[in-house]
Amino acid sequence: MSKEYKTLMTEIRLPYELAYGPVWTRFFEGMAEKKIFGTKCAKCNRILVPARSFCPRCFVDTDEWVEVAQTGTLTAWSYVNYRYFGMPTEPPFISALMRLDGTDVDFLHILGGFDLADFEKARKIVKNGMRLKAVWSNDKKAHIMNLKYFKPL
Ligand SMILES: [Zn+2]
Repeated sequence: MSKEYKTLMTEIRLPYELAYGPVWTRFFEGMAEKKIFGTKCAKCNRILVPARSFCPRCFVDTDEWVEVAQTGTLTAWSYVNYRYFGMPTEPPFISALMRLDGTDVDFLHILGGFDLADFEKARKIVKNGMRLKAVWSNDKKAHIMNLKYFKPL
């Protein structure tokens, strides 16, 4: 006869500090200048964004910097209506993967510029394949959220 165990659901938070290093430093300095930087792999010629120090496909260092387009195409999205540790902004928001024009990997950010309070209304606007454009804050912070969101074109 098996014994039934009761469980308690909880969470553990693990705050940590991570040094940007030279590649992320330059990438985030670009955010302060309202520019999005990627790096290009000399072996496969893919443009990786956010900038990476090496190509995860070829395992070679990347040393060519490219300022990439601020427009792109939505590839996947998720409506977030709950709070969690480390969230990029207050919910509701839409976490979105997009392929910025001329790049070869998807870029993760959020969508905005329209009413997100009602999921049913939002899902009528948001469609994979839709065109997007970066909207910047008026700040000059070297932070990913200096790019406020991507709005539908
Ligand atoms: Zn490569």
